[in-house]
Amino acid sequence: MHDFGMEKQKEMEHSSDKKQKVRIKRELSRINLLGMYLLGTVFVAFMVALILVQANVRYTVRPEVLELLPKVNLVDMKNTEEPSEGSSEKNNYGETLIENKSYKTLLITEEGDPQSIKSKELWDPILSQMKISSDECDVSDFKCSMLKDYDKIIMAVTKYQKLSEEIVGIKSWVKKGGNLMVAFPPETSGSYKSLFEILGVSDSGEAVVVEGLHFEKDFLIGGSAHDFGIIDAYESSLAYALYDDCEVYVKSTDEYPVPVIWKRKVGKGTVVMDNFGIMDKAYRGIHCAAYSLLGEFCVYPVINGAAFYIDDFPSPVPEGDSTYVSRDYNMSVADFYSQVWWNDIYELGRRYGIHYTGLVIEDYSNQVEGEFPRNQEITRFRYFGNMLLDAGGEIGIHGYNHMPLVLENFDYKDQYDAYIQWPSIQDMRNSLLEVFGFSDELFPDEEFKVYVPPSNVLSEEGRKLLNDTTIRSIAAVYLPTDMAYEQEFEVSSDGIINTPRITSGCVIDEYMELAALSELNFHLVNTHFHHPDDVLDEDRGAALGWKKLYENLRNYMQWLYMSFPNIRNMTGSELAAAVQNYDLLKVERRINDREITLNFGDFNKEAWMLLRVSDGQKIDYVTGGSYISMTDDLYLLQCDTDKVVVRLKQETE
Ligand SMILES: [Zn+2]
Repeated sequence: MHDFGMEKQKEMEHSSDKKQKVRIKRELSRINLLGMYLLGTVFVAFMVALILVQANVRYTVRPEVLELLPKVNLVDMKNTEEPSEGSSEKNNYGETLIENKSYKTLLITEEGDPQSIKSKELWDPILSQMKISSDECDVSDFKCSMLKDYDKIIMAVTKYQKLSEEIVGIKSWVKKGGNLMVAFPPETSGSYKSLFEILGVSDSGEAVVVEGLHFEKDFLIGGSAHDFGIIDAYESSLAYALYDDCEVYVKSTDEYPVPVIWKRKVGKGTVVMDNFGIMDKAYRGIHCAAYSLLGEFCVYPVINGAAFYIDDFPSPVPEGDSTYVSRDYNMSVADFYSQVWWNDIYELGRRYGIHYTGLVIEDYSNQVEGEFPRNQEITRFRYFGNMLLDAGGEIGIHGYNHMPLVLENFDYKDQYDAYIQWPSIQDMRNSLLEVFGFSDELFPDEEFKVYVPPSNVLSEEGRKLLNDTTIRSIAAVYLPTDMAYEQEFEVSSDGIINTPRITSGCVIDEYMELAALSELNFHLVNTHFHHPDDVLDEDRGAALGWKKLYENLRNYMQWLYMSFPNIRNMTGSELAAAVQNYDLLKVERRINDREITLNFGDFNKEAWMLLRVSDGQKIDYVTGGSYISMTDDLYLLQCDTDKVVVRLKQETE
């Protein structure tokens, strides 16, 4: 740079006369030129950067982290009945073999009882997703003679008097090494009270409202960070006084705390009381964790992934109420997004290594038929889209416009007056063809694999259309709401991978906090949906101002990455691959002395397992993989082969 300046000076020298008095002037102009040159360099660099961004040149190509199997394979694997015919070897996937005898979990339910029905709806997916084989039996059919095939019982029963004579047998089964969980606080009857001896209850009282959860021990990943409030709490728990030898893991945050989850050793067995009583999907991880306290150990597969989606991004400048943007920033909405919002979001992503997945909307039009015109205003799309991709992100599809892919047969129940249904499948197809074509033109190196349904509404007809495109994953919602397209983390039988979003927005309320905690412990997953237009919508916190909304988001991420700094940051399609590996995996557990052997079926390069151990046991070593400590008694196993052996030792050994 300096040399170049000198050259310039020399040229000038050549063209100027050599009079003494001009020298000073020349010196001054040299300095000026250098300054101009510096400015010029910065300007040119800026222009080049802008041109590169505009011209769609990318600096880095993100290496594929995980592999999506071909869709046809996924369809085959999901639709093939097991075990394979002609195979002489018995398939023990889902079962636990202790000294070569195979055990399952027994879920005892009570027909017609509303609490029991809710509990069954909770436990069926929990057990199947933990890959634990279970049988169900109605309380009236239960006989203690059945217990020889089970190592764990989940008692989802309200009226223990229906168990009558069997209670004595259950107690003796526990003392001999059985493991019993009371799934929710039942009706206090004489029969139930006769279990107090093993539950460690000295006295029981009235039903109580648990306003919040306090984690007494380092028990859940992220649980010790702070107490967790419960929205819409009701009298779901019972007041209990306990023996001193009960290990209380969770208490209520009330002035007179109620024990919410405790464990007690009884002879060679264990009992766990799950006194939480609220059995919503958002709290599965709390109940799963209670179950994991039963017995010597509990090991179950998890996803290990975090994905952050950005709604309507890139898209045309969103419409909405700009009151608060004007109030706080005195700039246009378009400028706010490029100068404030995106800087903040980008910086947050950089800080935590997040690879955002943005979902394209081509046009905010109401058009649902005819020819869909291409949006020619592409500067914004390219600018944001290329920056997102360059930071290791991914672009997915949201829609040509924001009209959910539903036909006129779909009932909006008067909730979305502004939404227009599509007159035909062909019209929906045409709109998809247009948005895919548009996105291809803008980002020719990208394959669009992730779809997020606008307003979380999607029809089966729409899903079928998406399955004819490059879409591999649909990310709708995990938690149930009105007509939202609710999903599980799974490979669907049509070969599409469901990767639902759990939390959203910048107003992270107590429900969302607890749901995030729950899923971090149940699936070791975090999926968040960020709406850029929160600042334009009073219902989503606009009046708080972006500064406050951003602070909320930062606090949430801080909690997540402090709770589990090693969580794998993934784009939407990478998360889909992780869900694929998790969902297809089959697990057989064998325990001999202090050695746990995990044999995996349909193992695809990786498996992640959470292992909870009891009584101060620690991992001595792992073969076929590695491990990290998550909480006092919880480990994460990274399994690199389809057979992993975990050797445990006592802490004192
Ligand atoms: Zn949207």
